[in-house]
Amino acid sequence: MNQVQKGSLFVISGPSGVGKGTLVNLLRAKCPEIALSTSVTTRKPRPGEINGTHYFFIEKEVFLYRLKHGDFLEWNEFAKNYYGTDRNIVETAVQQGHNLLLEIDVKGALQVKEKKPEAILIFIEPPSLEELKARLFKRKTESEREIQERLSIVKSEIGKKHLFDYSIVNDDLELAFSELENIIMNQINRTEIYKK
Ligand code: ADP
Ligand code: 5GP
Repeated sequence: MNQVQKGSLFVISGPSGVGKGTLVNLLRAKCPEIALSTSVTTRKPRPGEINGTHYFFIEKEVFLYRLKHGDFLEWNEFAKNYYGTDRNIVETAVQQGHNLLLEIDVKGALQVKEKKPEAILIFIEPPSLEELKARLFKRKTESEREIQERLSIVKSEIGKKHLFDYSIVNDDLELAFSELENIIMNQINRTEIYKK
């Protein structure tokens, strides 16, 4: 009997500025064997963001063309930009038995659950709206108008957390990371299967 690892699909979601990227970076540093799907977006790159690493940055016309051709497993228009997950990246990783992580918004996460019910959805929650706002302002990657746009949908996003498999409050970063790591490692260990 050979022991093989069946790949799991993890979706990390939650409001903008809650700390998804921070937690995912910590996870990838500790568990480099977990792959991260690179999303496609029409948003302009922030200083330091690299095409093909942080996102595939494309024009709106190209995004809409690819959407029409069914290239995306899920997609959403978020704060006036389009974001999508390349279906091929997910299918290839799953077929090859890799553990794959998607870091996407709440609407996108729920689309993934519909299409792939086996996906593990993890909601990252802020300790309070005030703290979330403070984090977005501190990050300084969006204008005040863009921050307000992101904050305007937070309540409706938090209202959907019951549709997720797990929810983690990102107050103390170390604690939140440890909860995330436990959920992910338990799932990976649980999906070990035996084949003849
Ligand atoms: P997201 O990817 O969800 O938009 P980020 O990971 O970019 O959020 O985090 C937003 C800001 O909040 C960053 O400046 C980050 O350093 C900070 N941050 C993340 N987690 C915490 C935490 N637990 N406590 C305080 N600040 C945090
Ligand atoms: P940002 O502009 O801050 O990088 O991302 C804005 C929001 O879009 C975040 O909540 C982020 O998780 C989400 N996002 C990133 N990639 C995707 C994707 O492929 N699909 C969806 N639906 N959302 C995404």
